[in-house]
Amino acid sequence: MYGKGLIKGLFVTLKNLVRPPFTVQYPEERLKQHPRFRGEEFVWYEERCTGCASCAKYCPLGIIRIVTEPSGTSIAQGGKYNIETFDIDIGRCMFCGLCVEACPYDALFMGSGFERGKYRRKDLLITVDELRTAAKKPSTWFRPQLERIGYDPHAGVPISWKDVGREKWEWTKKDKAGSRFYEADPGQQNKAVKNSGEELL
Ligand code: SF4
Ligand code: SF4
Repeated sequence: MYGKGLIKGLFVTLKNLVRPPFTVQYPEERLKQHPRFRGEEFVWYEERCTGCASCAKYCPLGIIRIVTEPSGTSIAQGGKYNIETFDIDIGRCMFCGLCVEACPYDALFMGSGFERGKYRRKDLLITVDELRTAAKKPSTWFRPQLERIGYDPHAGVPISWKDVGREKWEWTKKDKAGSRFYEADPGQQNKAVKNSGEELL
């Protein structure tokens, strides 16, 4: 009946009139983000990065560009490639996270930020300089080791490159991720640690 429908509609209006709001007054108020939130502003740890470019190869959109050059130090001495370029065209990124999954050294993480409003598309390019200087507050997405230690990127505390990996490595004095050497035992100094299952967390 026409009159009954009208009353029903008014009842819905009344119900919503007294319901507390779902929305918040952004940016003064903010909803709490989940630690696994896949934000932009990728977090990259240069100390852990070997320049292997696996992340670039796995990106389905081909928006990661990496240019490296040999460091001049042998791998046995802890040398790795120097990173000249590491650009991510965030304007085309679909936040699938495949680049993060592909990184064998836990050097690349999804970011936790989401405020990158720009007027020009070219300003959406994240450069290596920006990656180097950005706050290290990685999302815990695809990084169970961060969840195990209870890390929350939204708590405002950055996390060091030494604490973000899946493996327990003994680090060299040069602090290079690509070189897995025992520091304590000089006899083992130049011997790569076998990546056995016991060393995995
Ligand atoms: S999140 Fe996906 S689309 Fe974005 S850079 Fe990584 S692999 Fe490419
Ligand atoms: S971020 Fe990871 S996958 Fe990408 S080049 Fe560095 S080590 Fe390789």
